[in-house]
Amino acid sequence: MHGLDDQAVARVSELLKGSTQPVALTGAGISAESGVPTFRSGESGFWGRFRPEDLATPEAFAADPLLVWCWYAWRRAQLAELSPNDGHRAMAAFEQLPGGFTVITQNVDGLHQAGGSHNVIEVHGSIAAVRCSADCGARRYLLHEHNHKHDHNHDRERDRERDRDASAEAVFASDREVARLVAEQGDAAFATISEGSGLSGRLPPQCSGCGAYLRPDVVWFGEQLPLEAVNRAFELSESADLFLVVGTSSVVYPAAALPEVAAERGAVLVEINPEPTPLSDRADVVIRSGSGPALSAVAQRLGLGA
Ligand SMILES: [Zn+2]
Repeated sequence: MHGLDDQAVARVSELLKGSTQPVALTGAGISAESGVPTFRSGESGFWGRFRPEDLATPEAFAADPLLVWCWYAWRRAQLAELSPNDGHRAMAAFEQLPGGFTVITQNVDGLHQAGGSHNVIEVHGSIAAVRCSADCGARRYLLHEHNHKHDHNHDRERDRERDRDASAEAVFASDREVARLVAEQGDAAFATISEGSGLSGRLPPQCSGCGAYLRPDVVWFGEQLPLEAVNRAFELSESADLFLVVGTSSVVYPAAALPEVAAERGAVLVEINPEPTPLSDRADVVIRSGSGPALSAVAQRLGLGA
C-alpha cells in the first residue's frame, strides 16, 4: 500500500474550500470499504443459491412476491450489521463547507445517510424504502428499522422522517419479524416463513392506497431509473464547479454521463479510486486510494476532522 499523495490531497482540499457547488458521484467502491457484499461476491446457503439477476426483477416479484420480499429482508439484515466508513463520514462533514456538498450515489445501502449526509440523491433507489408495486401514487415508506450503527446526530433526523401511520407500522413490524427470523435461522428462515409462521399471509405488506403489494424501492434489472432523481443528478452535474468521482468506474449510464456533463460545463474533475478507470485520463486530480483514507485526509486538512 502506497502512502497518500499529499499534494493531491492538498489540492482537493483547496478546491473544496473554494468551490461554490461541489458534487460527488459515488459507487460500489465506497460501499465495499464498509464490507457491503457485492452482487458477485459468492454468497452461500439458502439465499446465496439465488442469483440477483433472478430475484431483482419485476418478473420474479410477480412470480413469487414472498420470496423476493424475504430475500430483501435478508439483505437488509446483512446491511444492518455494517457501519459507514471514513469516506462516508468525510463527505457528510463536507456539507459544512461554504458551498455545501451533495452526493449522487449509485448505491442503495443507505450508508451515506447513516454517515450523516443529508444531501443524497439515490439514482438506483434505496433498500431502506418501500413503495407500491402498482405505482398508485401512495407514499413511499422509509424502513427506519434499517438501523445502521449510525451517528447520534443523525438519529433525530431519522426520527423526523419516521412514518407513524398504521400501515407503515405494519411494514416495519413484518420487516423486523423477517429480519429476526433470518438472523436466527439463516437458511431455514424462508421455509419457516413460507410454511406457517403466519407471515406468509401478511407478506409482502399491502399498499394502503390500493391494496397492491409493497416492494423495495430499488431499481430492478430491466427497470427505468427514477426520473426525478436522475433529472436532479443531471441538473447538479451541469451546475457543479467541482465534481468528485469516488469509488466508481462510472461506465454505466447515467453515472458515466454525469462527470462528462460536469466537465463540459467547466467543473474541475477529481477521481478517487484505487484503480484506474476510463475517466482517469480526463480527471484534473487523481487520488489513487480508497475513499476512506483519501477523504478523511482531505477532511482533516479542512479542519473538519471526520
Ligand atoms: Zn398502491
